[in-house]
Amino acid sequence: MGTKAKELVKMDVNKVIELLNKAYADEWLAYYQYWIGAKVVKGQLRGAAQGELIEHANEELGHAEMIADRIITLGGTPVLKPEDWYKVNNCGYDAPEDPSVRAIIQQNVKGEQCAIDVYNNLLEVVKDKDIVTYKMVLDILEDEMEHEEDLQAILEDMR
Ligand code: FE
Ligand code: FE
Ligand code: MG
Repeated sequence: MGTKAKELVKMDVNKVIELLNKAYADEWLAYYQYWIGAKVVKGQLRGAAQGELIEHANEELGHAEMIADRIITLGGTPVLKPEDWYKVNNCGYDAPEDPSVRAIIQQNVKGEQCAIDVYNNLLEVVKDKDIVTYKMVLDILEDEMEHEEDLQAILEDMR
């Protein structure tokens, strides 16, 4: 990060990096939860569910990439070991042990609701202090809200 760009961050950069790394771990776990869920899902509306799960997996991977790039720009290092994802994440990981569409979608709704809280809180932390991170987090938050809505629409269709 250039010296002028650095002046624009009006808070402890290490705090921003720490919070971004926690979200980064969440994104990888969310990616895998969606990806493996799409593989094992069974039952009513399986095709629709699979399509949405794969799409969301790809979008979570995109979020991981955005966050990794921002961490590096800020002078930090993204979490290097998958085993550390479990140590620093906010939202956990739910293995899709029940492969029914309903169970898998419900697990992922829970994950999205956690992600919405995490990013909403992160917005408050960086607001007026790190505007570039703010914009990125806002973009991700919009995606997570759309994810929640898409999943809840599938649950609605199952009634
Ligand atoms: Fe995400
Ligand atoms: Fe999401
Ligand atoms: Mg979607």
